[in-house]
Amino acid sequence: MQTKRLVEKDAPLKKDDLIVITGAGGFIAGNLAKYFLKQGFTRIRAVDKKPLYEWYLRSPGVESLCLDVSQEKNCRRVCEGAVEVYNLAADMGGMGFIERFRIECLRSILINTHMIEAACRAGARRYFFSSSACAYNTTLQQDPNVRALKESDAYPAMAERGYGWEKLMSEMFCQEYWAERGMKTFIARFHNVYGPHGTWDGGREKAPAALCRKVIAALDAGQKEIMVWGDGTATRSFMFIDDCVKGIDMITHCDELIATPINLGSSELVSVNELLSKIEKIAGTKLKRNYDLTAPRGVAGRNSDNTFIKQILGWEPNTPLDQGLAATYKWIKEQYEKRKQGKRVVE
Ligand code: NAD
Repeated sequence: MQTKRLVEKDAPLKKDDLIVITGAGGFIAGNLAKYFLKQGFTRIRAVDKKPLYEWYLRSPGVESLCLDVSQEKNCRRVCEGAVEVYNLAADMGGMGFIERFRIECLRSILINTHMIEAACRAGARRYFFSSSACAYNTTLQQDPNVRALKESDAYPAMAERGYGWEKLMSEMFCQEYWAERGMKTFIARFHNVYGPHGTWDGGREKAPAALCRKVIAALDAGQKEIMVWGDGTATRSFMFIDDCVKGIDMITHCDELIATPINLGSSELVSVNELLSKIEKIAGTKLKRNYDLTAPRGVAGRNSDNTFIKQILGWEPNTPLDQGLAATYKWIKEQYEKRKQGKRVVE
């Protein structure tokens, strides 16, 4: 993005500077809070509208607030004293959710609108926004053998209805808060993220978690068949959660990336059929596949072009899918078994 602003160097983040993370009862932000805690940061404020007992991860030592950040007054409270703000709160889910609940997805515009203003007023030095590959032009994603998407492919704009447009508009807020108000903003376009401590059932889960759960449930019930959404040929790349939180940290502390959307995703492209085969291998089974052609399936193919991130950060998400899936499968199996025994399934 063209900007006339001079980038002033700010002081390095101190371990007792206040870091605010929204959406922290959910998957990525919960893992992000844990990541910063591990890095030795002592003042982390985690926020989510979900009741605390529903959070996937609650790290001791992290201030956990149950607040709705689509409301302006709550955003002011949340951002008080913040040095860095990571806004990951959004009403979202996998294809089953974002194709069906486009209005809910669009409404997340309120979250970023109020959070970025509150962060700016509070004098936060850095503001991170979690955008999505759904912001990319959908006409470029109509073939499973897709060309990987590079950052400039968001324009001319034809984002995913609802969810994708909200992300694109919120990206624009981030760019203008830098251009007009001088707050350093950072925008990552995540490509499917998966891993432990995320949604694995209930309708908002994404393909890796949904397929793990279906395989586990089939084995448990002694069934030999599985229902797959779509025809199995759609392709995607999947980024392991550890790469995602590391990438968020690197992006937010790189001044070259101010107000500049960047892909944060794996470039290991697989079809849904290949993804399922990998999960079956982990589970030690082979199931007959039935395809539900009426189910939501999204674009035909999508992959992350990592040329830019490699050039700027000298790094890209690199956890092999087999390795990340093994950890995810293990965690979902534990949750499944706990639930069966009537135990609580979140920590
Ligand atoms: P998630 O659903 O697990 O977490 C989002 C959290 O935000 C939820 O816990 C939800 O309760 C909370 N939230 C929603 N509205 C809120 C509000 N008004 N006030 C406070 N909290 C609110 O989702 P996630 O996978 O952790 O995604 C985090 C961010 O990353 C989102 O912005 C999402 O759009 C983006 N993203 C995720 C993926 C992915 O593959 N998981 C891909 C692209 C982008």
